[in-house]
Amino acid sequence: MVRLGVLPDNAQTTASATNASPLSGANRSLHGTVYPCAALHRSELALGNIGREPLAAIHERSRKTYGRLTIDDQEDCRDCDFRHFCAGGCRAITYAATGRFESRAPNCQAIQDRIINALTQMPV
Ligand code: SF4
Repeated sequence: MVRLGVLPDNAQTTASATNASPLSGANRSLHGTVYPCAALHRSELALGNIGREPLAAIHERSRKTYGRLTIDDQEDCRDCDFRHFCAGGCRAITYAATGRFESRAPNCQAIQDRIINALTQMPV
C-alpha cells in the first residue's frame, strides 16, 4: 500500500519536521510531483508526477529506487549491533545531513545511548 500525503511544491520541509520513514510511503506536492517522504521534497528525489503518469508506475519506480535500502544493505550500519533496534534512524535526517541515504544517522551515538538505556532498564 502506498501512503500519499500532500505538501505545496514550495513547502519548506526539513528532516526534523517529520520522523516518517522516507521509504515506507510517498508524498506529493499540490502540483502532483511525488516524493519519497514529506521531509524529502527535493527535485533530485522526485519520483514522478501523478498528472502525467499512473501512480502504479511511480510506485514501481519508488520500489526499484528504494526497495533494496534495508539496514543490512547499508554499508555504514550493516555491522552495527544496534541495527535491528535502530534500522538506521530517519533516512530523511541522514540525507539532509550527509546527502546520502546509506550513511549512519547523524544522531547515531544518541540512538545507541537510548537503546542501551532502554535495554538496561528492562525488568529481568
Ligand atoms: S545509525 Fe548508528 S545505531 Fe543506527 S544502525 Fe547505523 S550505526 Fe547502528
